[in-house]
Amino acid sequence: MAELKVLFATSEVAPLIKTGGLADVSAALPAALRAIGVDAHVLVPGYNQVMAQLTQHEVVAVFDNLPGFPSSRLLSGKMAHNIPLLVLDCPSLYQRDGGPYQDVTGHDWADNALRFGLLSKVASVLGSSASPLDWHPDLVHCNDWQTGLIPAYLHFAQGAAPSIIAIHNLAFQGIFPPATVLQLGLPPSCFSINGVEFYGSMSFLKAGLYYADHITTVSPNYAREIQQAELGFGLQGLLFERRDSLTGMLNGIDTEEWNPADDHHLAMQYSVADMTGKATNKQALQKKLGLNPDPDVPLLGVVSRFTHQKGLDLLLEIAPRLTELPAQLAMLGSGEAHMQKTARDLSHRYPGKIGAVIGFSEDLSHQIEAGADMFVMPSRFEPCGLNQLYSQRYGTPPIVHATGGLSDSVVDCTPATLKDGTASGFMFDGMTAENLFIAIQRAIGLYHDKIKWKALCKNCMTKNFSWHHSAEAYLAVYRKVLGQQG
Ligand code: ADP
Repeated sequence: MAELKVLFATSEVAPLIKTGGLADVSAALPAALRAIGVDAHVLVPGYNQVMAQLTQHEVVAVFDNLPGFPSSRLLSGKMAHNIPLLVLDCPSLYQRDGGPYQDVTGHDWADNALRFGLLSKVASVLGSSASPLDWHPDLVHCNDWQTGLIPAYLHFAQGAAPSIIAIHNLAFQGIFPPATVLQLGLPPSCFSINGVEFYGSMSFLKAGLYYADHITTVSPNYAREIQQAELGFGLQGLLFERRDSLTGMLNGIDTEEWNPADDHHLAMQYSVADMTGKATNKQALQKKLGLNPDPDVPLLGVVSRFTHQKGLDLLLEIAPRLTELPAQLAMLGSGEAHMQKTARDLSHRYPGKIGAVIGFSEDLSHQIEAGADMFVMPSRFEPCGLNQLYSQRYGTPPIVHATGGLSDSVVDCTPATLKDGTASGFMFDGMTAENLFIAIQRAIGLYHDKIKWKALCKNCMTKNFSWHHSAEAYLAVYRKVLGQQG
């Protein structure tokens, strides 16, 4: 069978540009696909951060007559692992100070429809017979709302490849005024319930979910949850209708980037065979965050966006009680101003016991995964979640709310699961501060039983979260869409 060619269109890819898990997936999944023989190319906008890291490139196409869009160029370069990279260079839309979706003050860019409309339009050209490239994808793999218009454009294009859309987070949908449909060159007829219309507006994500040949999401449990009103964000009806074309597959992790035995961010490397380095990392983390250098007080770690989704409000609420258990808290994150302020205030009120760093730091995120004794992730909903996977790999059992991919990737610690060697963390049902507190108490209770704790950490560290298995599952979906036998 000829090598399958896939265009992987994304709004972020690590390490070039990252705001969350999508960037990690966009780097690791194409690499894992290439390792099993899929010719995956990644397409990303040429933000400042991307252009600055694109050392060698060549111009492979110019788009100066896409109706409604400014002129742009397509540059070809290489990412890590030699993955072919296509960068959409359009300085007036992408080269500005700030993040990929928001300006420096945290407001969405006013022209996001145009910015991600262009990304979608160009991807659809590359996936159709109008493509100026010699390389023609068999399938276009879209990711989240920023690429949601690709399947819509492909639907109206000549010689179009099929597409799939992966939902990494249904909460972000790309909703714009109805006039956007015409501005972005889509036919007015698609502004319909059977098209891009969503409660009177235009929705990029709805467009993708409606027109794509297949829908994937990042855990089997989340695939079920989004077909129901509670976590369907208004799209549950469409998702239920399309349930035979909806597949949930758990994300893997980049096991080279996240490897405690070979992690240059750490004070000392360690492995399941020799855990001595873990204590050294705890010491270093305590020092860095101004926490008391006590080796026996359990240290709880957090690396997260500070948003309602992540449930950190519950943790902040019980933080004073945690210090009395006693326990220490090391938090890294940024997001909603009121949560940042509470985290900062707590670190001032409880010096030596609570440390908070507001910001984004790759270095510190690795150091928390390694230096903490346990990792707290009380998300209200979580499509997959990566940090609980990283924390297991680093022998730092996660404490999680039973939702989405957290339920699929963490096995609650009970006498039975501890005995059969599957226990890998602590899970609570019912999204209340008290339930979180009880789960943390359970974890701390076990922490002081050194033999059982060691067994739990060992279970965590020996779990296999590599991308290989998921890449095979994506390949099976591609083949199904293309009508090929596996
Ligand atoms: P989401 O994509 O919803 O934010 P995930 O758990 O899927 O959540 O992925 C989050 C990714 O972003 C992880 O790689 C995590 O380590 C990283 N991350 C989140 N906040 C920070 C931060 N403040 N500093 C460094 N990395 C962060």
